Amino acid sequence: MAFPQSFIDELVARNPIEDVVGQHVQLRRSGANMFGLCPFHGEKTASFSVAPDKGIYYCFGCHKGGGVINFQMEVEGLSYPDAVRALAKRVGMEVPEDEQYQSRYKQQERLWALHKEAARFFHAQLYSPLGANALQYALGRGMSKSILTTFGVGYAPDSWDSLVKAMRAKGYTDEELKESGLVTVSQKNGNLFDRFRDRLMFPIIDVRGNVIAFGGRIIKKDDNAAKYLNSPETLIFNKRKNLFGLNLAKKTKAGSLLLVEGTIDVVALHQYGFDNAVASLGTSLTEEQAVLLSRYTENVVLIYDGDEAGQRATRRAIPILEKAGIGVKVLQIKDAKDPDEFLKKYGADKFKMLLEGSSNRVEYQLNAIARKFDLKEDEQRIKFIQETAELISTLGSPVQREVYGHRIAEAASVSYDVMKLEISKAFKRRMAREKKRQEKIDLAPAQNLQPKSRTIRYDNMKSAMAEETVLAMVLKDPGLMAQTKQLRPEEFSSPLLGKVYGQLQSRYNSGLELSLAVLEDLNHEEMSHVAGISQRHQGPVNESALQDCVKTIRAEHQASGVASADDLLALRDKLKESKGTKA
Ligand SMILES: [Zn+2]
Repeated sequence: MAFPQSFIDELVARNPIEDVVGQHVQLRRSGANMFGLCPFHGEKTASFSVAPDKGIYYCFGCHKGGGVINFQMEVEGLSYPDAVRALAKRVGMEVPEDEQYQSRYKQQERLWALHKEAARFFHAQLYSPLGANALQYALGRGMSKSILTTFGVGYAPDSWDSLVKAMRAKGYTDEELKESGLVTVSQKNGNLFDRFRDRLMFPIIDVRGNVIAFGGRIIKKDDNAAKYLNSPETLIFNKRKNLFGLNLAKKTKAGSLLLVEGTIDVVALHQYGFDNAVASLGTSLTEEQAVLLSRYTENVVLIYDGDEAGQRATRRAIPILEKAGIGVKVLQIKDAKDPDEFLKKYGADKFKMLLEGSSNRVEYQLNAIARKFDLKEDEQRIKFIQETAELISTLGSPVQREVYGHRIAEAASVSYDVMKLEISKAFKRRMAREKKRQEKIDLAPAQNLQPKSRTIRYDNMKSAMAEETVLAMVLKDPGLMAQTKQLRPEEFSSPLLGKVYGQLQSRYNSGLELSLAVLEDLNHEEMSHVAGISQRHQGPVNESALQDCVKTIRAEHQASGVASADDLLALRDKLKESKGTKA
């Protein structure tokens, strides 16, 4: 680690976890812990816990956990050093900067500045003689001059190196230009070329207001070139974690966000007064984007194109948004291929009506099921009833179940009683499946105790359980550490738990505070796992319970050691034998 341990200790001490978490989550005290709604996964009951005395957080739902630095990293999407910097700034501490980190941060700052300059350059080009066609094109597509300014739209000239030259003149090095992704490098001679040529340029701006990338739309029809071209991923641009237009839409008073496919759709919607439109960046919606959206709204209206690809994207996006705790509605555009075209054809009022009539996800899914079946055929009608009953049985509200049940019964020309019966059958089937799953979990406690992680495995479950208990106990009552002096980290069966124990032991021996929040080189997954051990522990915390665990760990360790000693003896005997026969 690049920061001195004493600095990290002070940083953690001066940033109480409940204060930092409290800036993002409303916490309520319950005994020694505080609880709130998890900021990392969507939920309606609070399973996110904070333990102020231990300095950690842990979510019993999604199993994320760690100390205050981990929280800062997760919630703001920061790297470790940037999270440390943010926490230091919060309490006015000076950061002893490591050269490597310092240079990386400086590099980022240079790239932000370079992108800002590039955006200015492109915008100026749009109003230069070179940009006449591009401006004509933009205005021809119905964009107003003021919306072009709002979005900072610009033009990349039809030239090989006008951006390269302009940025060099501003003092940016070729190395920085390469890092920015705004240029390509010639394979032949290493010369730099503008990546974007003869394109209308849309700056992609993050929620903090930094220009981090560009999307370029082709102006002339050219079948060999991509219609849209985005910046590649760079040190400052991760397309999975950003949304186009969110920097503006986050200020909306609309109470919801509109998620559309294209950059142009976002611009058109904003121009027509829908200042809550955003778009994912050329990918289908990611979990990271859904979580980002959930920071600004509880309601999203999905407005993807009416074609098959758009419908597929819609089906995929619904569960991702719901998982992030967002209520989803779906608007299906009719008589136009996308929102941009619709607005131009029918205007804002019509679109508003469309928006008000947008169906909730249940209606949308029912419609999607209905489209699969021909209700004139009896066989298909039965399948339709079963499939819709399955969907309706998942609805929590009895009112909803009745309303949709009636509607389906009518569509399938059966009585509501028949439909009701199907729904309750589907409900029982689901409950039975659920129960079976639960039984499986109850019956196999050992299996269930395997860490909920792909990379952490326990080889010796009996010892690992004792190791977990030791850690949980000393974290709760650090004084107990004095009673485990004889237990060595090498005796742990789990390398991760042994590593944590070793660090706690050496902190204890140096008279430092025992806290998970300051441990070194644990990744997110390991940190979450260890925080979980601490927060889930419910057994007694005392010396005799501790000694029982220590005994188990040592016995298991010795057993494994004895086995290998036996193997060695057997091997020696074998060698003796073979020597004997040779002699
Ligand atoms: Zn969670």
